[in-house]
Amino acid sequence: MTRFIELAELFEELEKITSHKEIVRKIAEFFRGLDGNEVKDSAYLFLGSIGPAFVNTTLGIKDRLAVRAIAAAYEVSEDEVKRRYARTGDLGDVVFEISKKREASLSIEEVFQRLGQIKEASGKGSQEGKTWLLSDILQKATPEEGKYIVRLVLGRLRLGFGDQFLLEAFSIAFTGDKKHAGKIKESYSVCTDIGELAKALAEHGTRAPGIFSIKPGIPVKSMLAQRVESFEELEARIQGKKAAEEKYDGERIQIHKKGDEIKGFSRRLEDITAQYPDVIEAVRKSVLADQIVLDGEIVAYVELEKDGNRIEEFYPFQKLMQRRRKYEIEKYREKCPVAVFFFDILYLNGESLLKKPYPERRSLLETHVVVRGIVHIARRTVTESIGEIEEFFDETVEKGLEGIVVKSMGDDSYYEAGKRSWLWFKWKQEYSEGMRETFDLVVVGSYYGRGRRKGSFGALLCAVLNEEEQRFETLTKVGTGFTEINAVEINNLLSTHVVSEIPKNVSIKKGMMPDIFIEPAIVIEVLGSEITNSPGHTAGEGEEGTGLALRFPRFLRIRYDRAPYDATTVKEIRYLKNGA
Ligand code: ATP
Repeated sequence: MTRFIELAELFEELEKITSHKEIVRKIAEFFRGLDGNEVKDSAYLFLGSIGPAFVNTTLGIKDRLAVRAIAAAYEVSEDEVKRRYARTGDLGDVVFEISKKREASLSIEEVFQRLGQIKEASGKGSQEGKTWLLSDILQKATPEEGKYIVRLVLGRLRLGFGDQFLLEAFSIAFTGDKKHAGKIKESYSVCTDIGELAKALAEHGTRAPGIFSIKPGIPVKSMLAQRVESFEELEARIQGKKAAEEKYDGERIQIHKKGDEIKGFSRRLEDITAQYPDVIEAVRKSVLADQIVLDGEIVAYVELEKDGNRIEEFYPFQKLMQRRRKYEIEKYREKCPVAVFFFDILYLNGESLLKKPYPERRSLLETHVVVRGIVHIARRTVTESIGEIEEFFDETVEKGLEGIVVKSMGDDSYYEAGKRSWLWFKWKQEYSEGMRETFDLVVVGSYYGRGRRKGSFGALLCAVLNEEEQRFETLTKVGTGFTEINAVEINNLLSTHVVSEIPKNVSIKKGMMPDIFIEPAIVIEVLGSEITNSPGHTAGEGEEGTGLALRFPRFLRIRYDRAPYDATTVKEIRYLKNGA
């Protein structure tokens, strides 16, 4: 039985360490000493959660209830807790200040179970129930433990690293060598439950990754597409026959059907079944296989009859975002009608199709999905001729779509889960309009606004992901393109992610310091025109201290469907600059 204090002390230590290698080593050392379920529980806790992303793990305690629980636990007034909160900006720190020293007695298992009970408390009187459960465990906790219990409960652990660090640590802890990290990361793309993965690795060591295969009910990380610079490049990248599919601009959805149960998962692996009851119903009618996993895109869409002709209207992504809600789904179902376009099949009745080439998958997709109502299969053209692909692209754009995805049809055209693959290439209209490109950037800071924007932010400091270092490096300051509505929405989002100092996984040059630091959580799409060398930014900074910068950036939209670790990478930016 491992005590929770060991985990709390490690969390505290990790907050201060910046070296990637050192963090991984410390985590590995910790996991080596755990047994059984502790491995699984701790894997979730390190990521600030009590389960995988595809399960709802929200505990249902917001600041107000936490304040009440803390006041009750330490017999102080709620006002006192609020005052301290206003000063420290962190309820974990408040607990650390006011709780009394005591002997550490809690186990990891006990804390984990208690967090589960807090989540489960529901129905009438659940708020009191949750408050009591939290307050009770705080009374048993040491100041260090209490600090992290409160942060976990509020979903604000903020250790400053993501799942990749854990996977590297598992390689060292459970296989004795970091060289298996690549294989483990691959397994994680297919089995996205980090707790299960950790447990299997602890039990089976190096033999474990092989046992992972896709299972209906557990989402697989999405395969992504590369950008190309020109049609000529496309020709060079995929020789011979290729398929150009329409690119739908909506929300990615992975549909999992297991008997009667049908679920939909987002690209962030969240369960979005409840947002799209119409899609789920339609899939029930169109897809008859008992067990199947499909990959596709939901778009805001209507089909009209005009003078005997069928007319399709595709709406931009922003319209679809109206459906990102928990309440009034039925109302929005009418207000924002959607369709689903499937473009891949990953699993069928007990068999993984990830290692089948795309032509075979496409033909199975066509066999097992009946096109009717709002269920479609991505339209495409198959050809060797780049000229024909250009024509298909022109027709696609004419319809109001954003572009095409060109896919390899080679013998090795597998489904590469979690990869920005060299088997899929996207070509969008904006690429053909000169060097205008879009980037998914992480907001890491904001500057106060002046004049008309007083009281709001003036510009956002945005970063790209350095994949090797798992660090966010600044690329540009975005100050244009915001509508008033965007600005309000962004201000609200920013306010929940303000931190008092630079998060340790963010790198900012001295001269670029923002007025407010924002923890990496918000991803925005930005249009920009040119990548240049810049001494002011840290993106891809070499030894000579020159980073890369994006010129003439303009805000396009908030990308709720992106997590910070899905952002545009330094490697992609370098590629765009140098073309190699
Ligand atoms: P962008 O930001 O350019 O829209 P993205 O960042 O959403 O692209 P990419 O991997 O660059 O993601 O482009 C592929 C995305 O396009 C997929 O994630 C999917 O959501 C969407 N998509 C639409 N139609 C298709 C299709 N026919 N095949 C594959 N992906 C498609």
